[in-house]
Formats: sequence, C-alpha cells, structure tokens
Amino acid sequence: METVNAKPTHQAHYSFFHGVERNFDKAAKYTRFEAGILEQIKACNSVYQMKFPVRIGDKIEVIEAYRVQHSHHKLPCKGGIRYSMDVNQDEVMALASLMTYKCAIVNVPFGGAKGGIKIDPKRYTPFELEKITRRYASELVKKNFIGPGLDVPAPDYGTGAREMSWIVDTYASLKTGEVDAMACVTGKPVTQGGVRGRTEATGLGVFYGIREVCLVAEDMKKIGLTPGIEGKKVIIQGLGNVGYHAAKYFQENGAIVVGLAEYEGGIYNEKGLDVNKVVEFRKTTGSILNFPGATNFKNSAETMEQPCDILIPAALENVINKSNADRIQAKIIGEAANGPLTPDADEILGKKGAIIVPDMYLNAGGVTVSYFEWLKNLSHVRFGRMDKRFSENQNHFLLKSVEDLTGKKVNDVERQQLLHGPDEVDLVYSGLEDTMIGSYHEIREALMRLGSGVDMRTAAFTVAIDKVGVSYEELGIFP
Ligand code: GLU
Repeated sequence: METVNAKPTHQAHYSFFHGVERNFDKAAKYTRFEAGILEQIKACNSVYQMKFPVRIGDKIEVIEAYRVQHSHHKLPCKGGIRYSMDVNQDEVMALASLMTYKCAIVNVPFGGAKGGIKIDPKRYTPFELEKITRRYASELVKKNFIGPGLDVPAPDYGTGAREMSWIVDTYASLKTGEVDAMACVTGKPVTQGGVRGRTEATGLGVFYGIREVCLVAEDMKKIGLTPGIEGKKVIIQGLGNVGYHAAKYFQENGAIVVGLAEYEGGIYNEKGLDVNKVVEFRKTTGSILNFPGATNFKNSAETMEQPCDILIPAALENVINKSNADRIQAKIIGEAANGPLTPDADEILGKKGAIIVPDMYLNAGGVTVSYFEWLKNLSHVRFGRMDKRFSENQNHFLLKSVEDLTGKKVNDVERQQLLHGPDEVDLVYSGLEDTMIGSYHEIREALMRLGSGVDMRTAAFTVAIDKVGVSYEELGIFP
C-alpha cells in the first residue's frame, strides 16, 4: 500500500480543495501572472465521476469512483488511485491539484491527476477487488482517461503494486498491440515492468528531503537545533509504506525514532524504538500498543504531541488541525502525507516558529520514481543494462592504472566499491537523491528571495506556479 491505515480526524465541513486553493492564493500574489492564467492553473480541467455495477457474491453493488485531471499543461497527467470510504470529489480534486504542483516542483514533466474508488478494501476478497479494479480501469479506457500519453495512474492510499498489475493487464488487453501499453500505469511489480526502488521511493524521498533541510546550519540555528540528522528525535504517524520506509531510513542514518502512531494507538520511548521490531511485534500481536519499554497512547493523535525534533505525519489529510496544532512540540514538521496540516494548523505552527516542509515537495519521491518507471517502460530496457559492464571495465582499467603508477593496492572493500557499475536501483536512488536535493534548494532560494513572513509552503507554491504559468504562457490559449 502506498500510504497507511491511520485514521483521519476529520473536521466537519472542511473542504480540502478549498484549503489547497487558499494556499495557492496566498502564494499567487508573489508571482507575475495575470488573473486569468492563475485561475486556469488553479482549476481542475476534467472531473470524471462514475458509477458502475460489480457483482459481489449474489448481489450487485454500485460502486462510486473518480478520476480528476487537474492540469493538461503537460501530458500525460499523473497521480495515484486511492481506495477508501473517505473518497469524494472534493478530496480527489484537492489531491489532483497537489499532483500538478508536486510534479512542477521536482521537474517531472506531467500534469496532475488523482483517482479514487469509494470502497473499504478490507471488506473485499482479492478476487472482488480485482473485479472492481478491472472494471474501473475499463471505465477509464472508455473515456480516454488512461494511457501512456494521456493519464498514468499509480498507487496511493489503499492500493499497491497488485492493483497496478491488474490495471496494466486490463489496459493491454483492451488496447492489443499498443507497444507502450506498460507505461499506462506506474508502481507495478518489477516483474510487470515496474522499476526497482519504486516501493520505498516516497519514504526515501522524505528522508532525503528532511536530511537536506537539516543540513543548512543557519536554518537549524534559528530553531535551536544542530545541523545534521544524527541524534534528532523523530515521531512518525502512520506505519504504512511511506511511514515505514521513512522511519527505517531515519533510523539507519542515526536519528532516534521516539514515537510511532497507527490507527489503533501510538507508542513513545524517548530512548528510541527499533522500527523493524515494532513492525514484527505488530504482525504478531495485531497492534503496536504494549511494545516493550514504550508508553502507550490509546488516542493515536496524542502521539504526535509528544516531545521530538521532527514530526512526520505519513497517513491522511487534516490530521493536524485547529484543535491540536498548538500542542505539537516538533520544530520540524515534514508532510509525508498529502495535506496533513489544514491551513489553520499551518498558521498556528508557523507562528510558533516551526519549519513546515510541505507535502508537494517532501512526498514527491513517489512520483519522481514513477517518472523513471514511465521512462523505462517507453524505452523498453532496464536502467543500467547497456552501461553497467562498460562502467565496470572502465573502473577496472582506471584502478589498475592508479595501482600500477603508485605501486599501492586498495583493500577489498574499496575495490568492490570502486569497480561496481550501476544497477537499476543505484541509478534510481541517485536520480531521486539529486531531485530531492536540487528541488529543496530551488524552494529555499525562493524563500530567501521572498523575505521574512513567507513560509516554505508559499515559497514552494510560487516555484510551482512559476513553472506551470510559463508553460501556459508559452503554449498560448487554444482558440
Ligand atoms: N500517490 C503518490 C502521490 O501522491 C504517487 C503518484 C504517482 O506516482 O503518480 O504522490
């Protein structure tokens, strides 16, 4: 699953899409575009709501589903598909628009989209889920809402590689002979045209992003922290694919994971929790609660309010809102989920001086590696296949020359490292790392340029609006 099973704390009548629009407007005034262009960037271009029947057991169920294409300034459109009972048009529109800004920020040449099916996937057998998924995919094909050059879905909350496999198979069987059919969806299993590194991409991107934030000594000084990830105390809300991988990379790189929250509750230990042991414990007992040595929080959301340096909400939207924002103690909040902070929460935490690293940058690792997968599918060859051995031979030649010239030999570990030619996963990780570092500094430069009183989300929005705006300007308006 792309994201996690932590329960959202919904606020009545809160429109997620309006929240995104509010943030957009806040940033738009720092850009140079005329009102019409800004309105066009902000609007969702195509909203497709569908209902289709699926036979479940001896009954026919009418399923409600969506695909929203927020922006066509670049094609294909790109964005995940979520399965959840909370799916509704407002949510899918908000998530689709975030995808446009996300892609622009990390220089992925796609427009934003999102899809959703309003079901609780836990209520269905794999066979039933396959029927629903295939029917949804064929509805998308019928309306030209899927295709390598049109719209390319991916996993999101409640979906994963298995569903993507069903989608690619449905698409390919309806479009026989389409040589690029594999590129109609990303996040597939590696054996079905997926790319190595996609599963952990979002979590790894979250880690790379926060590491970059923490490396800027002058910014850390302002919030009373030392530079670097090592020794920083981290709380992660949501132990799904994104939260788990982020937690794992934080821990492996010397951070102390002090708190973990899931839908059944949360645990906290200021000395640190071993992430893999917690996952094992949850598998055996069915809950993270009562993990040896940790304090329990039956109300999961309370875990986020415990002392830490970095808080990573990695579940659903709106979990930090007006009602709990002032109790959050973290100095850095990294939005691994989409929209975990409402605009009110943003304001409250901003006033407290916290650094809020926005979703549209921080969780863009997923779509970045999806882009790599799409490129792989279009080129029909695994990354590294053509050049791995060539690089190894070159490295070998170079090392031998150095050893001959100096009369000294490197040790075996160094030899292995120096000779190793890049595998697919090495190239994917380095492409992701470079993207997260480069994009962070683009945002930070905008932040510096805009001056005091502007937060990182607004700066990130201006970076995105500038890129999408230039695209619209250059394309002109079709008569
Ligand atoms: N669902 C992920 C997101 O929200 C990935 C989207 C994609 O890879 O297209 O960013």
